[in-house]
Order: sequence, then C-alpha cells, then structure tokens
Amino acid sequence: MSVRVRFAPSPTGPLHIGGVRTALYNYLFARKNGGKMLLRIEDTDQNRYVPGAEDYILEALKWVGIEIDEGQGVGGPHAPYRQSERKEMYRQYAEQLINSGKAYYAFDTAEEIEAMRKRLEEAGADAAQYNAITRLQMTNSLTLSAEEVASRIANGDPYVVRIKIDPKQDIRFKDIIREWVVVHASTLDDKVLLKSDGMPTYHLANIVDDHLMGITHVIRGEEWLPSAPLHVLLYQYFGWTAPQFAHLPLLLKPEGNGKLSKRDADLGGFPIFPLQWTDPSTGTVARGFREDGYLKDAVVNFLAFLGWNPGTEQEMFTMDELIQAFSLERIHKAGARFDITKAKWFNQQYIKQLSDEELAKSLQLGDTTKSLDLLKIVHLMKDRVTFPQEILSEASFLFEMPTEYEEAVVASKWNADAIKAIAAYVEDLNVYEGEFLADTAKAIWAAAAERVGVKMGKVMQALRLAATGAGHGPDLMLAMEILGKEEVIARLEKALAILPKP
Ligand code: GLU
Repeated sequence: MSVRVRFAPSPTGPLHIGGVRTALYNYLFARKNGGKMLLRIEDTDQNRYVPGAEDYILEALKWVGIEIDEGQGVGGPHAPYRQSERKEMYRQYAEQLINSGKAYYAFDTAEEIEAMRKRLEEAGADAAQYNAITRLQMTNSLTLSAEEVASRIANGDPYVVRIKIDPKQDIRFKDIIREWVVVHASTLDDKVLLKSDGMPTYHLANIVDDHLMGITHVIRGEEWLPSAPLHVLLYQYFGWTAPQFAHLPLLLKPEGNGKLSKRDADLGGFPIFPLQWTDPSTGTVARGFREDGYLKDAVVNFLAFLGWNPGTEQEMFTMDELIQAFSLERIHKAGARFDITKAKWFNQQYIKQLSDEELAKSLQLGDTTKSLDLLKIVHLMKDRVTFPQEILSEASFLFEMPTEYEEAVVASKWNADAIKAIAAYVEDLNVYEGEFLADTAKAIWAAAAERVGVKMGKVMQALRLAATGAGHGPDLMLAMEILGKEEVIARLEKALAILPKP
C-alpha cells in the first residue's frame, strides 16, 4: 500500500504557523515513504471564506519548500483540490446514508433548535444537543411520515441531513501518536452532514474526500481529535476502511501552559503566521516569519522539532535530512512549547551558513551603505546578528562618523597612553601609501604603539572608541578596512580633538 497523505486547510484567513507544521509533517512522512502529498482546500463553509487565503496557503507552502504532488482543481494538474468544486458529489453520499438508515432529513429551524437547547438546559440535561433522545421530539424524517417529508422537500422547505448516531456502542480507534482512543457513542450528537445550502459540512466532505482520494494516513492537529470518533463512525456507516490517524500535539504558549494564541505572539513580539498577511476587510497587517527575517530553512528546522525529535543530539537538519530521519512514531503526545528563542537560534545558525553573497542579496538596501563594500560589511556582521536586516542596522557605525562616545569607556580607557598611541597611529597612517587591509591596519597599529612604548592590548578599546564611538563591536581591524584609511584618520583626529585630555 503506498502512502498518500493530504494537507487540508480551510481558507478562512492566513495559515497559522501550526498549520505549516502539519503540512511539513505530512510532507516529511510522504517523502520518507515514497508516497504522495495532496493539497485539498476545504472551502465548504462559505460564510468563513476569506479571499486571498488560498493564495496565501500556496505561497506559504512554496516558501518553506513543501511540494504538492497532486490536485485537480481548476488551474492545472498541480492546483489543489477544492471542495467547493466537488459540491454536487457529496450529496449522493449523504443520500446513500439516508437510504441505509444511517442519516436523516431534519427540517428544524434555528429557533426550534434553540428552544430545544433551552428546554434541555433548564431541565438540567448534561449535554443539550441533537441526539438519539432529542431527535424524537424534533421535526425530521424520523418523526414525520414519508409523505410529509417528500412534500416538504418538493416544496423547497429548507432541510439539513444529519447523521443518525447509534448511541449503544463504543467507538474505538488506534491513533499512531495517542494509542487507543475510546469514546462512547452516546456522547456524540447527530452532526449535520449536508447543510441547507446544499454544501457538505467539514465532516462529510472530509471523510468522502479522504476515502475517494485514497488517503492512507490522516495527519492533523490535536484540535481535530474530538471529531475523529465521528469520522471513524462515518467510515463504518459507509462500509469503508478508515485511514490511520495521527493527531499532532498542540502548540503551547512560550511559558508552556495553555494553547499558543495570537495574543501570546503579540505580547512576545513574534509572528504566528509564516508570511505577512493583510486582512482584506480591515486592512490590518499581521507580521510573518518571512518578513521578520527568518530564513525558511530555520523555520522548517524549528517547526520539525515542535513535537518531534530524531532521538539523537543532532539539531541542524536540512529538509532532506529531516525526510530521512522522520517517523510518526517519534512524535510526542505532550504539547510542544513554542519557544521563539529556539527559532532565533536556528536563524542565527542558518545565517552563519549562508555565503556573504547570498546574505548580501537578501538585504534591502537603501543608500545606507554609501560606497562601502557590502560583502565585507556582511562578513563583518553575520556572526553577530539574528536576522539579516540587523546587519545594516548593527553596522550603522560604519555609515556615520561618531557623534557620541560611550561615556564609561571614555572614563576608563581614554588616558595618556591611549592618546599617545592613537596620535602615533595617525602619523603612521598618514605616511602609509600601500593597500589598507585589516592586516595592515593592525600591523601599523602595533608598530605605532611600540614606537611610543605603549602595550597595544591596553589601548585597544580606546582605539575602538575613537574609531566607532563604542566600547564593543565586531572585528575592529576589518571594520577599519571597510571604512578606509582616510575615514579612519578623520575619525581618530576627531576623537583626539574632542575627547578630554587627562
Ligand atoms: N479543514 C480542516 C482544517 O482546517 C482539516 C482538518 C483535517 O485535516 O481533517 O484544519
């Protein structure tokens, strides 16, 4: 049996980062097992449809490198399946269940259902729902005569189709991650399968599609676990073999207690969506991992570890390595803490792995770098940043002559020796005519300090202060090479002129 999995998002807004993890695990599992990965857009709820959401999903998957093998929607062989385009087909399956006595027509209005709920709540019932007991007091094809039902339908009266749950049984299935799940059918309600607008509900469409598309493994978020018993029952009612289920652990708040929410992300100052998203109705912009400067490889690596681990010490994984190492058995049940510092750590590692050229290409350049050598700036800064865009902001000292000098460093390091050595350095630089590289900058500095009898190590920080205004920063000699000899001389002369003379 060859593996077939699907990612089945609903286009109700931007795909959550947890959805990207679900897609990733499906993809890794499919690739590991030489199977196929399908994309199915579950757009049967027209009230919740958000324009642009499908494009967003496609773009997000593409960005992280998840390839879709199959779909037959409008737009070519690789366009996703869309349930709205399969609408007509679902009805026949609902009718099949009606004909076999496993589903029924219900004509109740929203008010009648509300009144039933109220009645039950007032009577102190455990669960006020449409089920094996209450359905006998409602307006449906179980309580009306066949003629009445036929005439209502012929009349165009609105109706839904509900599943007829047989309450006297245990529903059991083995989830790959959570082991045996057992639920008593009496706790389930007679869920709507076909809505009055003729659209299937999520439950019906999901089961019919998973069956018709030959899905072997349903890998999805834990929030769908409560629906799984109903799905298992539907497979039984249709007489179909159910796929295997794997419900992925929840994503937890950074502190680890409770489900990760948009609010946690806002408070923590991190994104919760893969790409930036502009809400089409309000114009509100939500930040994205991509736009915040996370590299896709870092995001993939981070997401892979949210609920799974390889069982070894290795942390850095390319997509191919993940495919090799992945198994559903190594996914844990416990929720996964969304530790954004880990995502940042991965980002730093992947930034270091990029070549200076690749990193330089990803930067949005204004006229900030003046005529300075961008590749050298990238090289100077890349070990010190978490996000690419920090390269230019952290290197801002290169673009402007210092106007302020770190006071504590002035107080502790700007002394007679420093002034003597720096003045000597300026003299020597003025007469030097060769190429000015980090190594030469250093050699001239060492020689100048020695000439005036000062230990170079003791006045190093003062040199940095004079050249950059700060007491700490990246490799000073390389920074001076980037600045160029004339600029270095100008900066040192300025510091000598305006800093206090002890
Ligand atoms: N459409 C559901 C969602 O939005 C799919 C759940 C499933 O994978 O069965 O997540």
